Amino acid sequence: MERFLNYIGGERRAARSEQWLVSVDPSTGEPWAEVPDSDSTDVEDAVAAASRAFAESDWRRIPAAERAARLRSLADSVEANAERLSDVETRDNGRPLRETRFSQIPGAAMQIRYLAGLSEDITGSTLNIRPDTMAYTMWEPVGVVAVIIPWNGPLPVFFAKVTAALAAGNAVIVKPAQQATASILEATKLFDDLDIPAGLVNVVSGRGASVGDAIAGHPGVGKISFTGSTETGRRIMQSATVNIKNLLLELGGKSPNIVFADADLDAAAAGAAAGIFTPNAGQACVAGSRILVESAVYDEFVARLAKHAENIVVGDPFDPDTGMGPIANGSQYESIRSYLDVGRSEGAALEFGGRVTEQLMPESSRLRGGYFVEPTLFTTDRNSLRVAREEIFGPVAVAVPFQHEEDAVRIANDTEYGLAAGVWTEDLRRAHRMTRRLQAGVVWVNTYKAMHWALPFGGHKHSGNGTAGGPTALHEWMNQKSVWMNVGEQLPPAAPVGDSRLPIK
Ligand code: NAD
Repeated sequence: MERFLNYIGGERRAARSEQWLVSVDPSTGEPWAEVPDSDSTDVEDAVAAASRAFAESDWRRIPAAERAARLRSLADSVEANAERLSDVETRDNGRPLRETRFSQIPGAAMQIRYLAGLSEDITGSTLNIRPDTMAYTMWEPVGVVAVIIPWNGPLPVFFAKVTAALAAGNAVIVKPAQQATASILEATKLFDDLDIPAGLVNVVSGRGASVGDAIAGHPGVGKISFTGSTETGRRIMQSATVNIKNLLLELGGKSPNIVFADADLDAAAAGAAAGIFTPNAGQACVAGSRILVESAVYDEFVARLAKHAENIVVGDPFDPDTGMGPIANGSQYESIRSYLDVGRSEGAALEFGGRVTEQLMPESSRLRGGYFVEPTLFTTDRNSLRVAREEIFGPVAVAVPFQHEEDAVRIANDTEYGLAAGVWTEDLRRAHRMTRRLQAGVVWVNTYKAMHWALPFGGHKHSGNGTAGGPTALHEWMNQKSVWMNVGEQLPPAAPVGDSRLPIK
């Protein structure tokens, strides 16, 4: 078994307790690695190392162009190590290599370069308030910040968050998900050869209830970026009251993908399939897990969707022909299986799919121990069913018919979540009406799941708060400061804002 170590203050070490968590290869169910089972004492070490690095290193004081150049070298290093990083990620969480190596790692390098560029473009504003006053705003790093990561996309989240935090001048502590830690600990090795001071990046491996909770409630951490479930997000908000911590929350979803009768049905069926039957088995926050279809084309559309699902090869994530890999871990596999039972028992019709490892993998195959679920569709006209309301986080969609536009909007917004939505229509005016009325942080029209770091991304309603990405991405990692400077000849007395008695010189 391989062993991966924590990264604290530039050193690699086991947890102080010397306890380990076992990491399982989800395509076979075999243990393959060990990662530290850390606790609050390791978090104390990481906060101390990060505080020291923030206070003592030159990182905040070097010219912005220099900081950007050093971050760009991280992107070069990501590209140079793409093979090893993607192998570990695929082994550890089962996301097919075709995605990790050929899309996620190259994408991470491009995103790092974009964020590095933003560090050269941190701008405040000047305000014309009074003739005797020069008023301006400036942005400063928060200090020590933390990033808590889910298991469904460890490396992309790690590189994006760490780079943004560093580009803004902070020191950062990272807590990977205990089910998918190895690739992030492997990625810390890239920092050994970079000109980024030790202690600016720290990774503490461990459980949510110990390491995560200790970070969320630590008075020395000024900001937390959390990506994960809405339930854990709520818990972190409570812990963060300790020091009124600033939170960026990227949470769950139950996103509607809406198909109107006038849509290009082939494109819509392909887009709906790609939105939920993803290579990583629908374990995507923005998965289009509720497919709303106008009644006039409902049967026709479901038949086309079934054809797409049939053609997806479920199997070994290292095989280039695999269209969908395993579920990332055993507990998520159990959870999805129980939703298959919930759907059946609450009266949804199983339109296609529903088979799991025992029915999908031959007895002789090493994949027989893995966690596989085939593309699955439930149909129902009740958006109130649990399978239509709760985030299943797997390759399981529910299709719901609607009668007209008003009906589509009502069903689409009838959810606690507000992360993403898709609209398929050839009617331009309808497309604009829908984008205005849908309660979601991102709306795709005649496409689905397209992402780019230059576009802001954040959830509405219970899908989160704050915004990642886009040209102001670094603001999430900084505090704003306003400056009043008296440039008159005579000092005016202190006075409330807007006090008209203040003499103007
Ligand atoms: P999760 O909430 O179970 O765990 C996420 C992280 O929080 C893990 O590192 C976990 O160890 C940690 N954690 C757990 N309990 C904690 C506590 N009490 N205090 C502090 N940290 C704690 O989520 P998951 O199952 O790993 O990931 C799947 C979820 O993430 C889905 O809901 C998905 O929609 C969401 N997600 C959202 C986005 C987005 O951008 N909106 C992106 C990816 C995933």
